[in-house]
Amino acid sequence: MSETNTKRELGRGESVMAGVYRLRLPLPWPGVPHCNAWAVAAGDGVVLFDTGMHQPGSMAHLERALQMCHLRVEDINLVVCTHAHSDHYGQAATIVERAGCELWMHPNYQHMSQWAQDTDAAVARRLEVARQSGVPEEPLRRYAEQRKDHDSGIAAVIEPDRALLPGVTIATDLGTWTVHETPGHAPSHVCLFQPERRLLISGDHLLGRISLFFDYGFSPDPVGEFVNSLDVVERLGARLCLPGHGRTFTDVHAHIEGNRKLVAERSERVLAAMAPEPATAFEMVPRIYDDIPFSPATAAWLLMETLSFLLHLQVTGRAIKIPGEPERWEPA
Ligand SMILES: [Zn+2]
Ligand SMILES: [Zn+2]
Repeated sequence: MSETNTKRELGRGESVMAGVYRLRLPLPWPGVPHCNAWAVAAGDGVVLFDTGMHQPGSMAHLERALQMCHLRVEDINLVVCTHAHSDHYGQAATIVERAGCELWMHPNYQHMSQWAQDTDAAVARRLEVARQSGVPEEPLRRYAEQRKDHDSGIAAVIEPDRALLPGVTIATDLGTWTVHETPGHAPSHVCLFQPERRLLISGDHLLGRISLFFDYGFSPDPVGEFVNSLDVVERLGARLCLPGHGRTFTDVHAHIEGNRKLVAERSERVLAAMAPEPATAFEMVPRIYDDIPFSPATAAWLLMETLSFLLHLQVTGRAIKIPGEPERWEPA
């Protein structure tokens, strides 16, 4: 992990088609070296879709990436966030302040603001969930320690000037973009679609490298919402996807199918991990993810994903939660 942290990349910008720029911004996360912000020409400036994460020196990476496309922060006339995760929203406050523009984002961003505004309370809630899920005291203590000086990656929590809901449109030189709610990865997630060119700005809902992440604890069934959101995006018939991480890709349908398949497979694995006897979520994790090392770096993410699948199986009547300290699960 330390190697990834020290081997920092620089912000880089490139044109992917006339009037569309990919700004590739570095991240400090193991296995996720960078994220994309997309600048789309609009009048005498650009609309910026997503912002990169706020870290020491991160605005310099954005400036560098913009400069490679002959753009400046002052050219940004609107910031639109696909969702309120730090790598897509973290620099919004700084950019909006400097460019003097508006921020548009979906209103369900409490998953971010609660965390950023009262991290202690959010960590305490997460620890309680982990304890209920059978995580022993020692790793819990270590997690709490780590989180204490964990940087949120968000410059400041600012409210959107406009709620990014269906019906809102975003005008650019490439045409108008429509808003499509795609919760699952995060409750605030939307995709932006340009119908004439069939371009999709997909945030983290659809990525070139299929991988799942669910913001657990803010909605009744994140996995179910994610699957519904795949249907929403499929109906759009996008030809080219501009994702939140990695390169653009064209085989959008195959990626949607790949995600559906992965969700179905994981669901089966989670069900199988409850046999032959009822198990806690913590006991199930290494049985489900035998290909991913269970380490302090991955534990919280794998536990949250497992809990999201358990909730989904419960909501769809396939698993039963047995109350207790800790809670255990059995097939329905
Ligand atoms: Zn995200
Ligand atoms: Zn992301």
